Amino acid sequence: MIFANPSAAPELACDECGCRWFDRRNNACYECGAPVPPAQVAAFERALQEHRRALEQAHLARA
Ligand SMILES: [Zn+2]
Repeated sequence: MIFANPSAAPELACDECGCRWFDRRNNACYECGAPVPPAQVAAFERALQEHRRALEQAHLARA
């Protein structure tokens, strides 16, 4: 699952145990070993990029 942390940045969490510690090399949960589907990883990367873009926009708007 993907959720937003308190600073509104997206974070990837395990569907099985809900923990946020992922082994990015193996794309699996550290806690329970559940694999992260590639689609989920792709969705997370997209969310991260969108978040960065939003931050840049906010920064530009202030400048
Ligand atoms: Zn897990």
